[in-house]
Amino acid sequence: MQIYKVGGAVRDRLLGKPVTDIDWVVVGATTEDMLAKGFRPVGADFPVFLHPKSGEEYALARTERKSGRGYGGFTFHASPEVTLEEDLIRRDLTINAMAEDDQQNLTDPYHGQRDLKARLLRHVSPAFAEDPLRVLRVARFAARYAKLGFTVAPETLELMRQLSESGELEALTAERSWKEISRALLEDQPQVFIEVLRECGALKVLMPEVDALFGVPQPEAHHPEVDTGVHTLSVLEQAALHQQPLTVRWASLLHDLGKGLTPEEEWPRHIAHEHKGLKLIKAVNERFKAPKDCQELALLVGQYHTHGHRALELKPSTLLELLQSFDVYRRPQRFEEFIAACEMDARGRKGLEQRSYPQADYLRGAASAARSVAVQPLLEKGFKGPELGEAIKRERLKALKAYKEQA
Ligand code: ATP
Ligand code: MG
Repeated sequence: MQIYKVGGAVRDRLLGKPVTDIDWVVVGATTEDMLAKGFRPVGADFPVFLHPKSGEEYALARTERKSGRGYGGFTFHASPEVTLEEDLIRRDLTINAMAEDDQQNLTDPYHGQRDLKARLLRHVSPAFAEDPLRVLRVARFAARYAKLGFTVAPETLELMRQLSESGELEALTAERSWKEISRALLEDQPQVFIEVLRECGALKVLMPEVDALFGVPQPEAHHPEVDTGVHTLSVLEQAALHQQPLTVRWASLLHDLGKGLTPEEEWPRHIAHEHKGLKLIKAVNERFKAPKDCQELALLVGQYHTHGHRALELKPSTLLELLQSFDVYRRPQRFEEFIAACEMDARGRKGLEQRSYPQADYLRGAASAARSVAVQPLLEKGFKGPELGEAIKRERLKALKAYKEQA
C-alpha cells in the first residue's frame, strides 16, 4: 500500500501556512489490510480509518458516483485498484486535490500548484456540481484566503450559479450547512463568504432574508454607506476585525433583517424594524438549527440593538427592562456579547469604523449598578414570593436612577 498526505495539509504547506489537521489517503489496500495494521474503522459507509497512535484520518482511495439528491445520494467505490488520480478527481477544488508522499513528492494532476500561484479557487471537474455543499465550501475558502488575494474562478462561479438555480441547495441538511456557515463566519473575512454566496445566487436560496437587504436604503445621516446589505457586511467585517465569537458574528449578520420588510414608501426610515425582524431571525435560526446561544443572542440583538445605541438617553425604567430581558444577573456574559454586537453595528458604517462607543461602558456600569442590589436585607425585612421580586426591582430601579444621575 502507498500512503499520501492530501487536501488541506498539502495546500497549506505550499501556502506556507500552519498545518493543523492532516488527512491521508491509502492506495492499494483493502479494509482487511487496514484492520490488520491496527487501524480503527470509523463511519459505516465510508472506508475511513483512524491511525492507532496519531488518531489521524486515513481514507482508502475511492471514486464516487451521484445516485440521487443531496449528499445521501452518493455511491462510493473503494478498492485497491482505485488510483491516486481517480481519488483526487472527486475532490472539490484543484488546490485541495494535491497529494504528497513521505518524501514531499507532489502528485498534482489537476494543476493545484498553478492555481495556488494564480490565487484561484477552481473546481477540479464537472462532477463538482454533484454535491451542493461545495458551493458553501468554496465561499468559505474565499473568506479564508481573500487576504492572500484568492478569488473564485469565473467558470467555478458559473457552476455554483447553476447549482444554486437547480434547487439542489435545498437538499442540504441543516447540520451540514451550519457546519460550513459557522466555520465561514469564524474566518478572517466572513463578509466575503456572504458576498460570494450572493454573487452566485446561493444567498437568495439559503438566506433570502439577508439577500433582501441589498438595495434597501437607510438614512444617510446615520448610515453613510446607505445600503442595508453593505452595512450588514461591514458589521460582520468589524466583528471579525475585533475577533468576536461566533454568537456575535451570527447576531451581526441577522440584526437588521426587519429592514427588508419596510414598505418602499417608508424608505429610508425603518420604523419598528427591530420588532418586525424577529420572526425572520427566528426562521433563519431554525432553518440551520443554529446552536442555542447563537439563536438567543441573534434574537436579543435584533430586538434591542437600538436600545444599545441610545443607552445614554434611556430612562432608568427602560434600562431596567433591558437588563431584565437579558437576565444580566445570571447571564453577564450574554450581556457583554450584546454590547459587543451593538458596538460592531455602530462601527460597521462607512467612515465611522474608528468611532468611540461610550454606550459600551455606560451599559456595563448600569449592569453592575443593578447587580449590586443585595437581596439579603430585603429578605430580612420579610419580603417573600412575588413581593420580594417587586422589592428587588424597586431597589434596582433606585440604583439605576442614582447611576444615571452621577454618570
Ligand atoms: P480545512 O483547512 O478547512 O480542514 P480541508 O481542505 O482540509 O480544509 P476538509 O473538510 O478537512 O478540508 O477535507 C479534506 C479534503 O477532502 C479537502 O481538501 C477536499 O479535497 C476533500 N473534500 C472534503 N469535503 C469535500 C466535498 N464536499 N466535496 C469534495 N471534496 C471534499
Ligand atoms: Mg482538513
